[in-house]
Amino acid sequence: MKIAVVGTGYVGLVTGTCFAETGNQVICVDIDAAKVARLKQGELPIYEPGLDVLFHRNIEEDRLKFTTSLVEGIKDAEVIFLALPTPPGENGSADLKYILGVAKDLGPLLENYAVIVDKSTVPVGTAEKVRAAIAANAKVDFDVVSNPEFLREGVAVEDFMKPDRVVIGTSSETAKKVMEKLYAPLVRQGNPVIFMDERSAEMTKYAANSFLALKITFMNEIANLCEKVGADVDDIRRGIGTDSRIGKRFLFAGIGYGGSCFPKDVQALAKTSQEYDYDFRMLNSVMAVNDDQKKKLLPIVRKHFDGNLKGKKIAVWGLAFKPHTDDIREAPALENIVALLEEGATVLAYDPEAMENTKRLISNVTYTHSAYDALDKADALMIFTEWPQFRTPDFAKMAELMNDKVIFDGRNLYELKQIREHGFLYYSIGRETQN
Ligand code: NAD
Repeated sequence: MKIAVVGTGYVGLVTGTCFAETGNQVICVDIDAAKVARLKQGELPIYEPGLDVLFHRNIEEDRLKFTTSLVEGIKDAEVIFLALPTPPGENGSADLKYILGVAKDLGPLLENYAVIVDKSTVPVGTAEKVRAAIAANAKVDFDVVSNPEFLREGVAVEDFMKPDRVVIGTSSETAKKVMEKLYAPLVRQGNPVIFMDERSAEMTKYAANSFLALKITFMNEIANLCEKVGADVDDIRRGIGTDSRIGKRFLFAGIGYGGSCFPKDVQALAKTSQEYDYDFRMLNSVMAVNDDQKKKLLPIVRKHFDGNLKGKKIAVWGLAFKPHTDDIREAPALENIVALLEEGATVLAYDPEAMENTKRLISNVTYTHSAYDALDKADALMIFTEWPQFRTPDFAKMAELMNDKVIFDGRNLYELKQIREHGFLYYSIGRETQN
């Protein structure tokens, strides 16, 4: 099939590359000329494990192309994916200006029947708006389908190539057949392609992300209570995760969720609820708790340093909002670092992939070549991302490098027993402080 993907971010680039990998002819369109120039030269603008191999292979085999021109990109395309940003607008609801802008441009450009697919996370009713924006100037027949994306950054290629499920919202039999054909190679193991109407598909994505944010937040509140009652949240996790109704995943307490999806999607669903005059109380709690959770370690750090961070040297491990990505959008590390700097601390930070992106936002931090370099004469270490390489460090070497053996761990990376053996002062989430 001939496919166009408009928007080459984390979702668009993975969508385009993976559909090229299954034999389709793909053109990716982006307005960012610098990004397109890099892509054309075979350079990936994002870090996503496994993407490089597929990306290079499909460029070499002539199935994957890039352009800044929408006209060129959609010429003869049977399916046009919109993988555009939907950031929070001024009032918290998803801003549809990118999607509707492209939809408006598409109308007069369509020369043959095409299926236009909303891949972005968009509020209920968007497919209808996209349809209207295209129809205003279209000369040919077309369908608009809602096909929300569930990939996780860090394992995006794997998720795309072997999705747990594919959700497709459409009332058109023609579009249904096109989408079925396109996804068939990805669901050969029998994972379902679930068809529904457009509004339900749009709502499914928000329900999924809000539920996951809720699950994390629930565990964070349990952790906060554990600290007060003297229980260990890791034991609670094991104790409840084995219940098949609850499940083992997404039960790790920590310093709050970030990323480009959960914060904005929970907020957007809350806004939708408001617009429909429904008081979705849980969502407001999730947002409030997560905001507090992201700042949770700061009062503990202040107390440890008797309220004065001036001149303290703080090492930071992890900047990305989660491991295996260079994405720092809404990452807890950022606001913590800004607070540390404002209070007079100096910060040495290390992240395997996210330092370049962070440098663009925060310049007065020393970014180091390795995790150990960040520890040089540090008065404390703060951990914000659970990169695997931080999990089994050389504690003796850490002790030697650091000025003081103090760790504030926002991701509960270490067993308390392990920490006791090495004699660190160790603050983590929902567990007893080790001294
Ligand atoms: P992104 O910001 O990484 O990428 C968006 C791209 O669109 C950018 O390259 C930008 O230059 C381009 N763009 C903007 N306006 C354009 C225009 N008029 N024409 C062509 N290109 C244009 O965004 P993302 O993370 O890929 O997310 C895209 C959508 O997918 C969002 O709605 C998001 O909520 C959703 N989503 C994201 C993820 C994720 O993990 N990142 C997962 C599932 C769903």
